[in-house]
Amino acid sequence: MFNIGCHLSTSKGYKHMGKEALSIGANTFQFFTRNPRGSKVKKVDEKDVAALLAIMAEHRFAPLLGHAPYTLNPCSADPKIREFAHLVMQEDLAALEYLPHNYYNFHPGSHVGQGVEAGLTLIVDVLNAVMRPEQTTLVLLETMSGKGSEVGSTFEELRAIIDRAALPEKIGVCLDTCHVYSAGYDIVNDLDGVLEQFDKVIGLERLKAIHLNDSLTPYNSKKDRHACIGAGTIGLDAITAFINHPQLRHLPYYLETPNDVPGYGEEIRLLRSLYRA
Ligand code: FE
Ligand code: FE
Ligand code: ZN
Repeated sequence: MFNIGCHLSTSKGYKHMGKEALSIGANTFQFFTRNPRGSKVKKVDEKDVAALLAIMAEHRFAPLLGHAPYTLNPCSADPKIREFAHLVMQEDLAALEYLPHNYYNFHPGSHVGQGVEAGLTLIVDVLNAVMRPEQTTLVLLETMSGKGSEVGSTFEELRAIIDRAALPEKIGVCLDTCHVYSAGYDIVNDLDGVLEQFDKVIGLERLKAIHLNDSLTPYNSKKDRHACIGAGTIGLDAITAFINHPQLRHLPYYLETPNDVPGYGEEIRLLRSLYRA
């Protein structure tokens, strides 16, 4: 079973996203938990949530991926910005409990010159303040490209966050193919080697989701520019090998390529045709 979806807009509600996913052959999707600039969270409409849960059960959806606003910075040098990240993540996790047993993905943040070590400590402080033993949502750390002072572009940094967290059993990793390739993990020529490293440092059992993107920029460029599937430096052959890899083929895939909804539909059709039954 190939579980694939794409990023969808929340503007018309949960049920609408479920229907939209079905209309393009997806059986999961990603959505922003709120407007990416980090505005106020909308009150949860329980009827709308129930309608989505019914669609998900009927069509056997893979876990949904709620994405935190990418402007959050839990390891900012400014305490006000850290406090904002804390509040947003706390509210998002509370809201996600209306959709139990799904995933919450966030960018670990940028240490803005304080150094990786200080960044790691601040990220763990926020995580420990917002996570609860009773939550059903798994929190996913996204692998970053390493642009600017981003934390989380190496497997070791992600491991350090997990190691120091109070609830490591509720933390996993979302691997973004564009980001890891830009960060210097060669998934094109040495996918087995990269997975071996992931397993040694983090443990493959912690890998829960894939952001499937091609990249506009070269290997190890430390940039973050997504390309459409097959139109970038990763290329269709490497992407085909990736989705069919025995250690990766069971995971849910989420497209974040520069596309509108019909464009995502085309990519999903293409990828389904390349996935070996
Ligand atoms: Fe992201
Ligand atoms: Fe991503
Ligand atoms: Zn990106």
